[in-house]
Amino acid sequence: MILKQIEQKYNSCTKCDYCMNDCKVFGYGNHNADIMVVGEGPGGVECETKVPFTGPAGKLLDKILAAIKLERDTLYFTNVVICRTNEKNRTPSWNEIQNCYNRLQEEIEIVKPNIILMVGNPSLKTFFGQHSKVTQCHGQWFVDFKPPYARYFSIMHPAWALHSSTEGELKAKKRTIWNDIKIFRNTLDTINFKLKRNKE
Ligand code: URA
Repeated sequence: MILKQIEQKYNSCTKCDYCMNDCKVFGYGNHNADIMVVGEGPGGVECETKVPFTGPAGKLLDKILAAIKLERDTLYFTNVVICRTNEKNRTPSWNEIQNCYNRLQEEIEIVKPNIILMVGNPSLKTFFGQHSKVTQCHGQWFVDFKPPYARYFSIMHPAWALHSSTEGELKAKKRTIWNDIKIFRNTLDTINFKLKRNKE
């Protein structure tokens, strides 16, 4: 199967209540990426561009990733759900995450990333269970000893920082994400050679 076939397969999915809202955003990016970025779900901007992480949170994520020398075109971006939940971008429920899980797994099987960057709580829950909490696990690595044998790293969602009510809060939250992404970069530097060899 190729990524285009995933779109064809799930384009008419109606498993969740909000599926009829005509906003389905599939994964996008480098099909051979070593790193897959998995976010929560599309927002209003993504519904128009049909590309994950193109709204305000995506722009901040781009900046954070560029600062550690990870350019967008070397990565693959997707979300735990492909539909926009509602106008307020409600966090997808566990049931909705489960409804979209096979599609995500199929994407992972095609791209075969060595590393999955989990952005936000729904992403962490998707891979490590309903009761996982990003507030407790951000900045940490996880290893999966069953397929896809990837390493996982968890960060707070940039939207969490953008929803700050004061400049000070925004700064502090950005710093949290920045501190975590530096841990991510340091590990990448350590295992870089191995990553490339795995892809050959
Ligand atoms: N846009 C996405 O595609 N995913 C998110 O998690 C947030 C914004």
